[in-house]
Amino acid sequence: MVPRIAVLPGDGIGTEIIPQAIKAIQASTVKCQEKFIFTEALVGGAAIDAVGVPLPDETLELCLHSDAVLLGAIGGPKWDNLPVALRPEAAALLPLRKELGLFANLRPAFLFPELLQASSLKPEVIQGVDLLVVRELTGGLYFGEKKREKLDRGERAVDVLEYTTYEIERIARLAFEAARRRRGKLTSVDKANVLESSRLWREVVSRLGREYPDIELEHMYVDNCAMQLIRNPRQFDGIVTENMFGDILTDEASMLTGSLGMLPSASLGGKVGLYEPSHGSAPDIAGQGKANPLAAILSAAMMLRYAFNMEKEAMAVEAAVRQVLAEGYRTPDIMEAGQRLVNTDEMGDLVAGKVEEVVVQWG
Ligand code: NAD
Repeated sequence: MVPRIAVLPGDGIGTEIIPQAIKAIQASTVKCQEKFIFTEALVGGAAIDAVGVPLPDETLELCLHSDAVLLGAIGGPKWDNLPVALRPEAAALLPLRKELGLFANLRPAFLFPELLQASSLKPEVIQGVDLLVVRELTGGLYFGEKKREKLDRGERAVDVLEYTTYEIERIARLAFEAARRRRGKLTSVDKANVLESSRLWREVVSRLGREYPDIELEHMYVDNCAMQLIRNPRQFDGIVTENMFGDILTDEASMLTGSLGMLPSASLGGKVGLYEPSHGSAPDIAGQGKANPLAAILSAAMMLRYAFNMEKEAMAVEAAVRQVLAEGYRTPDIMEAGQRLVNTDEMGDLVAGKVEEVVVQWG
């Protein structure tokens, strides 16, 4: 069977960066007999404008019947004032994740040495940062029961934080497996000193850890982890944590690498994974050729690795990005004095050209 990729460029810069990711994928398979089949579909504001809903049935069907989904970004000021049931993020992204059963969000924070000066943190602190946060995506506070009740004075608001053994086991197993593909260390982040759900989390992760004697497992409280990420981020390899802690820690970790335009992500767990850059549709720069396509291209590398088990091709894409940066090419968000400014399309062409070179070189 020829692998099928559902392509959802979405809105704003999504339509500019996704073609660059496709070029990189095509270049990585230049020597393969079988090529991917790419099928494009509407999502987000573009879908609202065309057919009145942000996640058309045809789009969902296409995703469910593909081997992987490549998503750009959705949303923008034009659709911000629609009712929640129609808003691109609430009514397209969350249902799409739910329908695809994506319970794990993988967000690597890797600092390309060429971008050492692009971060707001000291170079000696961030040099060599290479970590992966595995965040639980469909449980915890964000999905627990919510209610409000009137009191004699004011109101009471409740958000329920719950996790089951099953939910913890499946995300932890995925994180242990990911750690095996990396340097073999996993930090499980919780707040077991005060939260019962965290105590269960720690028990389950510890028990599962005995099945992975090759992985060095440590436990860390979330407040300490937030501090350690800034103090000494190099100590981390894999991090696994629940939904809300992961939400906060991944944004913090993103700043270790300098630009939002550099951060890929993969959401996994169901039959079909979703690969997307971590950033949004960037309406402020959309249509100007200023968008950095590297996060989308690196998301495509994650797709090659996790959806298709094409480690060599994934590494070729990552090596190509590194080489293009080493040659001094920069989009405006990572531009520094003395480097060469290129637009979105030029950056995509440079990376694709380099991917082909690397693939041929590696044989
Ligand atoms: P954003 O990530 O779109 O942009 C934040 C800032 O980063 C902007 O200054 C933007 O120009 C810059 N930026 C982002 N990606 C870049 C890239 N690849 N290259 C260069 N610069 C880049 O976040 P925002 O402005 O808060 O949100 C804009 C819209 O995107 C909103 O409608 C929001 O709801 C939506 N959004 C969508 C997703 C998604 O689709 N997964 C995620 C976040 C935000």
